This record gives sequence, C-alpha cells and structure tokens, in this order.
Amino acid sequence: MTDRLAFARALYDAVPLYDPKRSPVELDLTDNTNLWGLPPTAGRTLRELAVSRVTRYPSLYAAELKEELAQFVGATADRLVTGCGSDDILDSAMRAFGEPGSVVASSEPSFAMIPIFAQMNGLQYVGVTERADHQPDLDALLAANPRILYLCSPNNPTGALLQRETLERAVREAPGVVFIDEAYAEFSGVSAVDLAMRVDNLLVIRTMSKAFGLAGLRVGYGIGAPALVRDVEKSRGPYKLSSVAEQMALAALRHDLPWVNEHVALAVHNRERLADALRTRGYAPLPSHANYVCVPVANAVNVGQALRARGVAARPFAALPHVGDTLRISVGPWEMIERFLTAFDEATNEVNGGVTA
Ligand code: PMP
Repeated sequence: MTDRLAFARALYDAVPLYDPKRSPVELDLTDNTNLWGLPPTAGRTLRELAVSRVTRYPSLYAAELKEELAQFVGATADRLVTGCGSDDILDSAMRAFGEPGSVVASSEPSFAMIPIFAQMNGLQYVGVTERADHQPDLDALLAANPRILYLCSPNNPTGALLQRETLERAVREAPGVVFIDEAYAEFSGVSAVDLAMRVDNLLVIRTMSKAFGLAGLRVGYGIGAPALVRDVEKSRGPYKLSSVAEQMALAALRHDLPWVNEHVALAVHNRERLADALRTRGYAPLPSHANYVCVPVANAVNVGQALRARGVAARPFAALPHVGDTLRISVGPWEMIERFLTAFDEATNEVNGGVTA
C-alpha cells in the first residue's frame, strides 16, 4: 500500500477494512439477522427511554445486563462479560489472551472476521481446511499449537453443528484458550455453556444480533470461568455498551423471550421449507442448524449479481472446500423466501441455463 503515513503501525499494512459487499437492496438476505423485526418490548423501551439514559454515562461493565444474561443461558453473572457486539468480545478476547505473534487457529471456512481480528491484534492467523463432513480437522488445528483456537457452532457459513466430543477434546488438548462462537445457538438449541461452567479455558461467545433482532444495538456477550471473563473485560474496557443498548437488551430478555422463541421456531421451519424447495429444483443444500441455508450453486458470484439485479441479495462464496461455489441465504418470513426463489430461478437460468450445482 502506498497511501500509509510514515508513523503508522506496520502491522496495519495488511489489515483490510471489512467489506461484505452489502450495498442497499430491496430484499437483503445476507446478514442472518431476525427478518421479522424488533422484539415488541425492546421497541417500546426505545420509544420511552428517559433522556438521562443518553445524557449520562452508561454503566461501567453492564452489571444488570450480566445478571439477566446469566439467567438466560444458565450461568452466573461472575461468568459473564458483555461487549459491543460479539465482534467486540472476539476482538477483546484475542487481545486479552494473545501475546504479539501468538497463533490464532481457525477451521475454514468460518466467520470472515477472525483473520482480521487476529491481524488487528498483532497475532498470527492459521486457517485449517475443514473435513469433508464439515467438522473441523482438530488434529491439524492442534498441531498449529494455537494460543487461541476458534471454533464456530453452528458454523457460519456452512450451518454445521460442531460435535460435542470434538469440542471436549479441543478443550482438553488445546495449549491455550478455546473460543466457541455460538452466534446462532438459539436456532440449534445446542450450547456449550455447561462445559464453560466446568473448565477454565473455554470462552463461549453469544450475541443478541441474530435471534433477538438487535444487530444495530451491538450487544454481544461471553461466558467462561470468572478469571477468564475478567481478563476479557479488562481488555474490553469500561462503558462499552451504550445505555440504550443495555436498556433495550434488558427489556428483551425480561419480556420478549416468547416472541424470540416463536420467531426462532418459524426460522427453523422456513429453513427446512427453503431447503426442500431447493432440493425440488435439483440442488443439495448443506444441512443447517442456523437461520440460513448454504447451498452449492455453480458460478455463485455471478448468480449473486443476477439476484441483485432483481432486488434480492444472498451471500455468495467462491470455491468453498469440498462443495465449491455456494450461496448463503438468510431465512425470514415465507413471503421473502418466495420472492427469493422467484429471483433465484430467473438468476440461475440466466447465469447457468438451468443447470444445477
Ligand atoms: N460470529 C458469527 C459467526 C457471525 O456470523 C457474526 C455476525 N455476522 C458475528 C459473530 C458478529 O456478530 P455481532 O458482532 O453482531 O454480535
């Protein structure tokens, strides 16, 4: 890069700005948020928020929210840390546990921000291609001797659920800390919080951006041993969550769980309907435990562009290991999926002439 300042840190040479190519489009099925909208009590809280919530500083470390989140996941508040989205938990935790140059190992494909957070914190990123059954290659990950081992379940973008025995072995054998990113755990109903209550080297990372429909608020949290989460909290710093975010998150947890559960069930139902509709067309979607479907589609980037020309966005991935080009489609109300399918039929016909996979 030639436009860098003489006093800039050398390591930022290689750090790109995140660009998921998310330009505005009428129907955006790219970010796996809750497409049914905002939980009702959280919405009312926003409209009725006291002015003092904005003119004064928020709480230091969101103590009240930690209590409520602990109850939600079946932990205790001393095992919770909150952050400005789970992005902030990942970033802060990498800073907390990695010395400059430490290895961060991740199965691939997985969350695209992991190599970027590693670079941002002066850590060395090692990506290890997953196995053909979409489980991580744990032997190869451990062989990298990672200070931080990142796993994601359900995995983004495949939707695969991590086998419990693989996680337990990772926790037993990893030389450092294991992160398990459970951004989509509400849709799988499977979580490792119980394991994080028993061991001291597992950090479970969760978010209110997906099932709770609060992505714009930026509320993420981590669960782990008290000493582990306190270090993440030190690295994160005080006042990270805005008072607006904390009050709305509290309202959602106290009053909107029936709404959240209802829409999680709808997302799971529509995910299976979408997978069926794709199979009927001759495609072979990967089994998903999240609120999206990842489906192998030839020339996915071009199909993505043809979809956009029709006002619809799904996230293309080029040449994923074992499956090739894929589209990842967020699941929402069925009317949205119908509109997607109409555009998908036209787009694949235009790009691939009706040839599937
Ligand atoms: N982890 C995974 C696997 C994700 O897909 C995302 C969102 N794309 C995040 C973490 C970050 O979510 P947030 O910062 O909104 O909590």
